[in-house]
Amino acid sequence: MNTTIDTSGMNAGKRAALELAEAARDPSRASFAGGLFMGRLATVQLLPFPLQPTEDATRGEPFLSWLEMFLREEVDADEIDRTGEIPQMQIAELARMGAFGIKIPPRFGGLGLSQTNYCRAAMLLGSHCGNLTALLSAHQSIGAPQPLLHFGTEAQQAKYLPRVARGEISAFALTETGAGSDPARMTTRATPTADGRAFLLNGEKLWCTNGTRAGIIVVVARTPEKEGRPQTTAFIVETRWPGVEIAHRCHFMGLRALYNGVIRFHNVRVPRENILLGEGRGLKVALTTLNTGRLTLPAACVGLSKRCLRLARQWATEREQWGAPIGHHAAIADKLARMAADIFAMESMALYTASLVDHDPHADIRIEAAMAKLWATETAWRIVNDTMQIRGGRGYETAESLAARGERPEPVERFLRDSRINTIFEGSSEILRLFIAREALDPHLAVGGKVLDSRLPWAERAAATVRAGWFYTGWYPRQFLPVLDASDDAAHPVIKHHLRAAARQSHRLARALFHGMLRHGPALERRQLLLGRWVDAGTELFALSTAIARAETLFERDGDASVIRVADLFARGAQLRIEDHLRAAHHNADRAGGSIARDLLDGQLGWLEEGVVREAAPRPAHVAWPLAA
Ligand SMILES: Cc1cc2nc3c(=O)[nH]c(=O)nc-3n(C[C@H](O)[C@H](O)[C@H](O)COP(=O)(O)OP(=O)(O)OC[C@H]3O[C@@H](n4cnc5c(N)ncnc54)[C@H](O)[C@@H]3O)c2cc1C
Repeated sequence: MNTTIDTSGMNAGKRAALELAEAARDPSRASFAGGLFMGRLATVQLLPFPLQPTEDATRGEPFLSWLEMFLREEVDADEIDRTGEIPQMQIAELARMGAFGIKIPPRFGGLGLSQTNYCRAAMLLGSHCGNLTALLSAHQSIGAPQPLLHFGTEAQQAKYLPRVARGEISAFALTETGAGSDPARMTTRATPTADGRAFLLNGEKLWCTNGTRAGIIVVVARTPEKEGRPQTTAFIVETRWPGVEIAHRCHFMGLRALYNGVIRFHNVRVPRENILLGEGRGLKVALTTLNTGRLTLPAACVGLSKRCLRLARQWATEREQWGAPIGHHAAIADKLARMAADIFAMESMALYTASLVDHDPHADIRIEAAMAKLWATETAWRIVNDTMQIRGGRGYETAESLAARGERPEPVERFLRDSRINTIFEGSSEILRLFIAREALDPHLAVGGKVLDSRLPWAERAAATVRAGWFYTGWYPRQFLPVLDASDDAAHPVIKHHLRAAARQSHRLARALFHGMLRHGPALERRQLLLGRWVDAGTELFALSTAIARAETLFERDGDASVIRVADLFARGAQLRIEDHLRAAHHNADRAGGSIARDLLDGQLGWLEEGVVREAAPRPAHVAWPLAA
């Protein structure tokens, strides 16, 4: 296996999970966000900020205007939430306007729009209806279109892309009851038929979004091991084939009209030509699909957050308490200002990363997409929560109840329910932190990992030491040099100041990571809390860099100083948070917390759980309830 991680001390499950994830990695050139962990803030990759080209915006305009009008005039998102169903007429209308094939090339019947226009559609959807967002996003971000565009053969694309572009719903099935974040636990199997022309698929997939309505599902399954290594393969499966069963429709706290379910496969015959990318490349398909797929959620979060800002701002202006509009009280004003700054940064991150894909559809956006998803979903959750706080009791009241007593039916309660899942699916926050940390450590592991790997023969480690010595003799002193050139490309003094400060923080982060490597060796990969703080510092740096770069470019174009003020506020806050993360890497209560957590997991400290109603013991059906006797 091509990894520098010492897996020798791990149990078999962990090693298998890591080996599967490693097999799906595709090491290539460092990205902008990856460079931040190496002390490299590459302003040439940032400035001028890649604003959407006018021709591209013009190309997207007819569809986006149609979508906006359709959502505004025809979609009652509260009704969809209440009934748990999306009206078939609305699905048909979305299909007619091309919303099921936004990025699919016109030769296959799609609109052929850019990633940026796709993200702008996600912003519109996210600002209005979480259920429609999930339907269209699961269909084309992770469902069949994305992997087909990335990996499909000509024949697969010709057969399936026109169908999905026309509105045949698709889905993506990876998760199982025992395999959530850890795909190595997958048990769904595909066994080759005797003639080798097909596979027989058996197993059960959980929480497959769109699964209960889909015509086509991309299913990831285990295939026979090769050279003792686990293999996973991605198949295009049609739900009308014999043996596909929709066993259950799942229901959730929010996204109540999600067509999400348990899908069973009993000896489903899948032709070999329906393998995506190749046998044994299933995890690569899944992870690559998720990389680009992850860009939809940040865009949808921007839309949701902007809608929240409007609701919170309106209410903070009109609601008077204690002799003044509540927005004039500092505690509420502060929330509004932070929302504005965070939204600007969130949009900057999302648009920057979308522009990378538009520039090169095969660009390495692993770190940027993961950071955008992590940061946007956590920040949007806080923004929705703050909006609820600003709306007070009306925030908690349902839109239906508000309307029934004559008030404006603002759906903040629905927004809160619908957005909670965002930090869990498409890579939970915890898993994304590990993923980003792995990518951030990669350059160091590539140079120094063998030095610290006790499994390797002495001679190999000695040679690696010489190579690492050469690299670090040049690299390490540079991390202490004053940052002189980072702001050369910026014109505005506020932006110059923040760029310089960001470049200094990037050096500090890189030094911290390097010292961590020396101190912990490859075992650093298992120091989740430490790595998490560095990842959070790096993610704030990415948000800060894209926000100030976009402000600079917008200011140069429009001359409106308000963008500089908003970006300045964001940058000040982000700098303080980065300081906190870096300081907490040394000053923290992790050891004490770890010890308490171990005690809790061992069943000690039971007194902490006393004084509450206990879970009812299972009672045989024939035993009567004592009070009813
Ligand atoms: C509404 C909804 C829609 C979904 N849609 C789809 C879909 O279309 N297709 C599909 O395949 N799946 C789908 N999923 C599955 C979703 O992607 C998983 O829920 C997610 O991957 C997490 O898996 P899990 O819930 O089993 O959590 P687990 O993996 O059991 O994790 C539980 C908790 O432990 C944390 N955790 C796990 N491992 C670690 C670790 N090593 N270190 C630190 N923390 C860890 C997790 O972050 C999480 O907080 C959907 C789920 C929901 C609820």
